[in-house]
Amino acid sequence: MNQYTINTMSSEQTCQFAERLARLLKPGDVIALEGDLGAGKTTFTKGLALGLDIKKTVNSPTFTIIKEYHGRLPLYHMDVYRIENAYEDLGFDEYFEGNGVTVVEWAHIIEEQLPSERLTIYLYHGDHDTRKIVLVPSGKRYEQLCKEIFS
Ligand code: ADP
Ligand code: MG
Repeated sequence: MNQYTINTMSSEQTCQFAERLARLLKPGDVIALEGDLGAGKTTFTKGLALGLDIKKTVNSPTFTIIKEYHGRLPLYHMDVYRIENAYEDLGFDEYFEGNGVTVVEWAHIIEEQLPSERLTIYLYHGDHDTRKIVLVPSGKRYEQLCKEIFS
């Protein structure tokens, strides 16, 4: 399994990387974000929003589970941390198969419901403001996407 790593030294750098990634995203793309509390999942999503030309500020949707934003493409921002159980179906498929980009924080919680083809991104705390960001593509589309970003 291929994986691609980038280290960032500030939230701005994480944002910038996500912004660059977002410029390459297409309708129907799904990104699963993993990492402890404060690792930078929401920060990463803010960068994605910038790259999708979304003007509204993206905030943590912890209490709403799904928030929708409009830019070059729609962005469906999910945070499933507080979901009742892994099989609770909140109509996720309609988002995954929709015309927007879906980003899921704590994605493993709904593992069973995730599309098998997706880009999983792991964020790890380093010292101070450093973070290790590891991209693991599943499926040709995401392999291609990673190659493009890291070329
Ligand atoms: P999560 O959604 O994973 O719980 P957040 O993005 O809400 O995490 O919070 C990450 C926090 O860490 C923010 O306060 C952010 O400013 C800070 N931070 C410091 N350095 C970085 C970095 N390199 N990348 C991302 N966030 C960082
Ligand atoms: Mg968050």
